[in-house]
Amino acid sequence: MGTLPKLFSPFLTTKTHQSFLSPTPQFPFPKPHHTSSPTKHHKLKTSKFGNFLSLQPETKPESLDVDLPMWGPSDRSPLDVIIIGAGPAGLRLAEQVSRYGIQVCCVDPCPLSSWPNNYGVWVDEFESLDLGSCLDKTWPMTSVHINDNKTKYLDRPYGRVNRKRLKKELINRCLLNGVKFHKAKVWEIEHQEFESFVVCDDGNRIKGSLVVDASGFGSKFIEYDKPRNHGYQIAHGILAEVDFHPFDLDKMVLMDWRDSHLGNEPSLRNANSKLPTFLYAMPFDSNLVFLEETSLVSRPVLSYVEVKKRMAARLRHLGIRVKRVLEDEKCLIPMGGPLPKIPQNVMAIGGNSGIVHPSTGYMLARTMGMAAVLAEAIVEGLGSTRMIRGKPLYHRVWNGLWPIESRCVREFYSFGMETLLRLDLNGTRRFFDAFFDLKPHYWHGFLSSRLTLGELLLLSLSLFGNASAPSKVDIVTKCPVPLLRMMSNLALETI
Ligand SMILES: Cc1cc2nc3c(=O)[nH]c(=O)nc-3n(C[C@H](O)[C@H](O)[C@H](O)COP(=O)(O)OP(=O)(O)OC[C@H]3O[C@@H](n4cnc5c(N)ncnc54)[C@H](O)[C@@H]3O)c2cc1C
Repeated sequence: MGTLPKLFSPFLTTKTHQSFLSPTPQFPFPKPHHTSSPTKHHKLKTSKFGNFLSLQPETKPESLDVDLPMWGPSDRSPLDVIIIGAGPAGLRLAEQVSRYGIQVCCVDPCPLSSWPNNYGVWVDEFESLDLGSCLDKTWPMTSVHINDNKTKYLDRPYGRVNRKRLKKELINRCLLNGVKFHKAKVWEIEHQEFESFVVCDDGNRIKGSLVVDASGFGSKFIEYDKPRNHGYQIAHGILAEVDFHPFDLDKMVLMDWRDSHLGNEPSLRNANSKLPTFLYAMPFDSNLVFLEETSLVSRPVLSYVEVKKRMAARLRHLGIRVKRVLEDEKCLIPMGGPLPKIPQNVMAIGGNSGIVHPSTGYMLARTMGMAAVLAEAIVEGLGSTRMIRGKPLYHRVWNGLWPIESRCVREFYSFGMETLLRLDLNGTRRFFDAFFDLKPHYWHGFLSSRLTLGELLLLSLSLFGNASAPSKVDIVTKCPVPLLRMMSNLALETI
């Protein structure tokens, strides 16, 4: 670990490049602005150093070469669990639940295709899940540039997930446990008292005792009984071959909040001071770097074109000239908002289940861990000789994933998001300045969603104590409304 595999050499063969394609993800949310529109790019071009927006990603998706056992209409053995989606959440749950002898079928139109996103995680999170071998690059430290004069160095290793390796690992474990796959898109789900049918676009109807929807943020199968007032994280990222970059190779840049690159761009600077974006950078070697301009959270979502303009100005200012774009990604993550209706006939895991961290948008490591918790709840129901099916089963699995304590903790994280939504650039800088001065137990735990409600209250007191005078004013003036909302939601949860 810690050394960059040959895969990242700038002198890659075309075939090796192919394993890293990142096509723009599709969402049913605000209309994506695809990166490949030449007219838009033309308008954004500001100099020969800002022209990376006109470069097309050079990689192509490469599917895994695995012989999957397929489900067929003639299959007589009844299925216990049908999982919709072979993303990280779906495959992890399939692997975990099938360990107990539960019969699982995973349905996805392209179960072997490459996952599109570039995933970063804290190394300790993945190691504690025994998935450390699925990281292809780690950095011993991370840095946070608060402003031009202040940088914090965080002593917590960060890693990039080798998504191909992770997917292969999860699929191999699924194969060992007898999981079957079906290559199709699910159109609808029909429910009877003790079983459900998944209706696919190829005409097949698959019967199972429990359907789990792991189809991601764009899911249409999960119901909500409260207004969905989430915020959005939006970002534009590229894996780029560059002439030069200024980043230390042993430090991943978690957040760069500097805005000196906007000195000659008054309108961009003004907009950034109200709704700030930061740079996230993974330096792989002196010529290869993943760069992502990110709006941590906004509501309504910040324009994608604005994000790309700011990124072009920043790279120009840093003297980074992009020679080739190997991959690009548009990141759009709904954050916070209400949990799905609990319980309901369809279970959820992953992007559609409320697991995404409301203040950071991270989800991968938590999903890997929560899938094991959900698998246990499923096994307690389906594996029990008492034949728990239908409503009692749905009740058990939803409450297994979201017990009261976790719902209350999530209210707290959503309060964090509501607070961040109210901070301008200077407020955000002051917030992170104080946040990363907290004891590691608190900031590590907060970012990894592993603090109890009591610990979160202690964190708040400590954060207030650490905060500068203007930051205290921010907290006192901007937090009361979200605080009251959190208190009333907490009261509703516990009644
Ligand atoms: C660009 C981007 C970058 C991100 N980076 C990070 C990161 O660095 N760290 C982190 O922790 N989190 C990150 N996230 C957040 C989150 O971890 C990812 O979105 C993650 O991929 C969610 O996993 P998932 O399995 O829930 O959904 P997805 O990865 O979206 O997988 C859903 C699967 O369901 C399938 N599907 C969809 N509809 C149907 C249907 N009707 N029938 C059958 N199959 C269907 C799809 O084909 C797909 O295979 C990122 C998100 C994005 C968008």
